[in-house]
Amino acid sequence: MRKIKKGKAPEFIKLKNKKFLLEFSNNPTIDVNKKWKDWRGKDRLKEELRLSHFDKCCYCERVIPYFKSMQIEHFKPKSRYRKQCFDYKNLFICCDRCNGTKLGRYDKRMINPGKDDPSSHLHFNQDDVVAKTENGKVTIELLDMNDSDSKKLRCEFLNQIKEIIDIYSNRAIEGDKDAMEKIDKWFFESAQYYRLCIDNFEQHYKKIRESFLNKLKIDEFK
Ligand SMILES: [Zn+2]
Repeated sequence: MRKIKKGKAPEFIKLKNKKFLLEFSNNPTIDVNKKWKDWRGKDRLKEELRLSHFDKCCYCERVIPYFKSMQIEHFKPKSRYRKQCFDYKNLFICCDRCNGTKLGRYDKRMINPGKDDPSSHLHFNQDDVVAKTENGKVTIELLDMNDSDSKKLRCEFLNQIKEIIDIYSNRAIEGDKDAMEKIDKWFFESAQYYRLCIDNFEQHYKKIRESFLNKLKIDEFK
């Protein structure tokens, strides 16, 4: 989980929200679920959100391979926070698994990926996600972040990264740009499980990168 910088709301969703709020103020018992279901702008919204999300779930950071599998997530559930149904700040993209786990659950202590920095609240160990704060603890529980499937996936992924680092680090510290790139790409925010990688390998990665840059400098003066 990482902080998502969505930027300003696009005009089409701002207009939709404005229209909806006007309808809502005239009729507060309006069927919000139906309004959402009938809205034809959802694909356009997904197209917009996937850019800041890098096609990843806002909670577990898994890459969602198919556009159709991307779910639009109401951080504050539309069943309880009816007025925020079309509020851009409340909308994210998540995967089937997280969507199905969270459902209508919400607690005001939950980490908001659009506002809070998850790294202040959560640490991704090799096995478990560990809470640093009460907000982290609530978030882990609501999203069931330590269920056996999620743990297995994270563990397999870490082993893959470990292998990549093992294969390419020697070449990278010898100044091989291709080898460095092979490692670098997992440490960009856009990469799958970015936070997991950072929390487990950041120091190691920084050392490799530093040696790589030093080697380039030495070669320059040869
Ligand atoms: Zn997810």
